[in-house]
Amino acid sequence: MLALQQSQSSALFLYIYDSVESQATGMAGHWWLHESLKKLQKDYQVRFGASLIIKEGEALEVLQKIIKKYQIHQVIWNRLYSPKTIKRDTLVKKILQEQGTKVETFNGHLLNEPWEVQNNSGQYFKVFTPYWRKAFEVYQSKKEKIIKLNSLNVFKHQEKLTWNFLPGKKWYKKFSQYWIPGEKAANQKLIQYLKNDIDVYKDARDRPDLDLTSKLSPHLRFGEISPRTIVLNILKSKKLTTSVLTYLSEIGWREFSYSLLYYSKDLASVPINQKFQNFPWRKSEKDLDLWKKGQTGIPLVDAAMKQIYKKGWMHNRLRMVVGSFLVKNLLLNWTLGEQYFQETLLDYDEASNAAGWQWIAGCGADASPYFRVFNPILQSERFDPEAKFILQYLPQLQALQKPSSIFQPYLQEQEFQSLLKQKLYYAPIVDLKDSRNRALEAYQKIK
Ligand code: FAD
Repeated sequence: MLALQQSQSSALFLYIYDSVESQATGMAGHWWLHESLKKLQKDYQVRFGASLIIKEGEALEVLQKIIKKYQIHQVIWNRLYSPKTIKRDTLVKKILQEQGTKVETFNGHLLNEPWEVQNNSGQYFKVFTPYWRKAFEVYQSKKEKIIKLNSLNVFKHQEKLTWNFLPGKKWYKKFSQYWIPGEKAANQKLIQYLKNDIDVYKDARDRPDLDLTSKLSPHLRFGEISPRTIVLNILKSKKLTTSVLTYLSEIGWREFSYSLLYYSKDLASVPINQKFQNFPWRKSEKDLDLWKKGQTGIPLVDAAMKQIYKKGWMHNRLRMVVGSFLVKNLLLNWTLGEQYFQETLLDYDEASNAAGWQWIAGCGADASPYFRVFNPILQSERFDPEAKFILQYLPQLQALQKPSSIFQPYLQEQEFQSLLKQKLYYAPIVDLKDSRNRALEAYQKIK
């Protein structure tokens, strides 16, 4: 947020951490937020000779104090799109304006405002392909430019600069081995990705063993890079090959998720398809816990759950595999998975996470049909053919040698018994075929 002083025509940078922000950021996300703000403070000091102010408290109250203390006449911020942020920001804007402060808001988080992309009947799109066709057209019709703020005159303030957003639980310490938060790292990552990997995106994006996706998601989540910077750079420097178009369409899925968030009441808890309100979910704390710990006895699922815990990130293909396993094979409510991802993903995003889980559960917009149950064994064969990804997280399965055995340890009687005895691995918590049938029967009840 930028606050402008009238008398000396200079500016002040401000970040407010309030209850809305706190709820929209999970436990892992708080590590990223902390590190990102640290970088931003240093960066502003170098670029503008004055530091970012970071304040905890309710947004309106904090702003009113700052406005009074520094005689601010104008406040500027980038818009957010969840019902809670819209409610807060609309109220703050109204009150500040009534009190004589000028307020201007911009779009920095999306390619298009949700209301700019509508179908011919003036409704929001519920199917991705026509949505993205229209959204890309709308985006391209704008004359996009990147403006840098280097010449801004920032004034010195007398605010205290002590704050701490790190989560209480210390498991986050290893994240710094895998991630560098901050705008500079995000831009470098984008440049490298466009140079080295985007051209193979179409074929490689589904392979967790190859690990060739851009990993820009946490940077996007925390506004360190804008999708507009990504798309503008792509359009300036790349030919629109199938791989590049596929990558752009994934940015499109992010936009689509934001459109759903904007038009829904509560995307994280209310199924878009109302029939799912009455779905006969099972209740089992035990199964949920085994899923979270990566102890289901299905190696691809378990390795993926170890990945999220260790790195605060999970490959997209695996988010679908573990999601399908939770919702269909274990028949547990998708909101439980949504909540676990909230806490453990560094890129946890109110729009993409809820839309992703609704897609998996079959209750979302343009969702995977409920009767499509991912078979984790076939998924292993197709997307981790040499079991490299699985072995990275479950090295104890190396004893089984062949990938086909690693995918289904329980079929190797002798080796499996030995793994069980040494408590190195687990028996499957469900039979994949029986649990699939159980899910299909449950679906018949609401069809
Ligand atoms: P890339 O493949 O390099 O894609 C580039 C960017 O496109 C991503 O950074 C992301 O912003 C966007 N993107 C890609 N795929 C999707 C998608 N399916 N939906 C929306 N945007 C997409 N993404 C989040 O950013 N936050 C979440 O909380 C989140 N939760 C998810 C939960 C489930 C159950 C599922 C199935 C998907 C979820 N996704 C989420 C989408 C996707 O898995 C991640 O965006 C992606 O894995 C991030 O890695 P990347 O940056 O390397 O992606």
